[in-house]
Amino acid sequence: MEDPRQHILPVYRPPEEVFVQGEGAYMFTEDGRRYLDFIAGIAVNALGHAHPAMIDALRDQAGKLWHTSNMFRIKGQEELADKICRDTFADRVFFTNSGTEAIECAIKAARKYHWAAGDPDRIDIITFTGAFHGRSIGAINAGGNPKYLEGFGPKLPGFVHLEWGDHDALKAALAASTTAAVLVEPVQGEGGVRAMPEQCLKGLRELCDQHGVLLMFDEVQCGMGRTGKLWGYQWAADVEPDVIAAAKGIGGGFPFGACLMTEAVAEPMQPGSHGSTYGGNPLAMAVGNAVWDIISNEEFLANVRRVSGTLAQGLKSLADSHPDKVEGVTGKGLLTGLRLKADPKNLQTLCREEGLLAGVAGNNVLRLAPPLIIDDAQVRDAVSMIDAALTEWAP
Ligand SMILES: *Cc1c(COP(=O)(O)O)cnc(C)c1O
Repeated sequence: MEDPRQHILPVYRPPEEVFVQGEGAYMFTEDGRRYLDFIAGIAVNALGHAHPAMIDALRDQAGKLWHTSNMFRIKGQEELADKICRDTFADRVFFTNSGTEAIECAIKAARKYHWAAGDPDRIDIITFTGAFHGRSIGAINAGGNPKYLEGFGPKLPGFVHLEWGDHDALKAALAASTTAAVLVEPVQGEGGVRAMPEQCLKGLRELCDQHGVLLMFDEVQCGMGRTGKLWGYQWAADVEPDVIAAAKGIGGGFPFGACLMTEAVAEPMQPGSHGSTYGGNPLAMAVGNAVWDIISNEEFLANVRRVSGTLAQGLKSLADSHPDKVEGVTGKGLLTGLRLKADPKNLQTLCREEGLLAGVAGNNVLRLAPPLIIDDAQVRDAVSMIDAALTEWAP
C-alpha cells in the first residue's frame, strides 16, 4: 500500500481520521463518526462549521466576482474596514490572507512610523518567551522560539526577546533608543494558553507612552470574541494599542487576516510601501462582513462570557478530581486549557477516542478553543469526555 501522504511536505503529523463534514460544533469523518470540535481549526471556526450566514455570504459572492486584486476598489473591504474602525480603536485597516501576514504588516508599519518621524534607528521589536507570531522568516524571528528558527539561517537583527514577567529587562529594553515597538499576545496561544495579567497590559501601555514606543497586540488567536470580549486586551481597563494583528476567527474559516492601526501609524504607509495580491479579496470580505456582524454584537459576546464560565467550572472540577495529573486551569474565556504534569499528546489521542477534538500547547497544556457558539450541554459533554480520558491516561 502506498502512503497517501507520500507527496505532502512532511511538516505535520496528523492522526488518521479524515473529516469530510462539519455542522455547528461537530465534525464528521468519512465513516460517519461524530466528534465534538473543541479546537475549531485552532481557534478559527469561531461560528462553528457550516454557519448559514457564512454560507450565504460566500455563495452569493462566489456567483458574482472572486478577484480583482487591489488594483481596483473592493467594496467589501471598504464596508468591513468601516465597521472595524467604528467598533475598535483603529483608524485604518490592511487586509491580509493570514495571521503571519498581519504580523509582517505590523512590523513594517512600526518601523516605517519611526523612520518617517526621523528615527530610522528605531527598528527593534520586543517580544516575550512563549510568543508565537507565525512562520515567515520575519515572524519566526519575532517569535524567537529556537525550535522554529533552527536551520533557517542567521537570526535577523531588530528583534529583542525578553523573559515573560521580567519587568526590569522590559523597562531597560523600552528605554533603549533602538526600540520601535512591543509585540505581545494578550493571551498566548501556542506558548501555553497563558494570559498576560491585566495590570501588566496597563503598565506596558504606560511605559510605551513614556518612551515613544508603539504597542502592538497579536490578537490572531485571542481576538474576535474568543475570550468573551471582542479583543483579548479589552479585559484590561484604559488600554488601547497602536496596532492589532488579527486573523483566525476574523474569517471564521475563510483564510484572511487584518492589521488594524491608528492614523499616526498608518500615515507613512503610502502607495508602494506595502501590498498583497489576494489580501482583502471579495470572497474573504463577503465572509468577513458576515462574521463581523455576528461576533461584534455585545449580546453574542455576553453569551461567550457566560458559556466560558460553565467551561471554567467544568475544568476546575477536573483539576480537583485528577490532582495527580492536572496542575491547573489556564487561559481566558474560550481560549483555555488544562495544565498537566506530563506531555499531553497521549491525552489528546484519548480525548479523540472519546469523541472530543482538543489541541495541545506549550508547557504541557491540553488546549481547548471551541467554536464560540457552543452551548452548556456541549460543554458538559466535553468535560465528561476529558474526565474519561484523564482517568484512562497513564502519562
Ligand atoms: C496562528 C497565529 C499566528 C499565525 O497565523 P497564520 O494564519 O497561521 O499565519 C500568529 N500569531 C498568533 C498568536 C497565532 O496564534
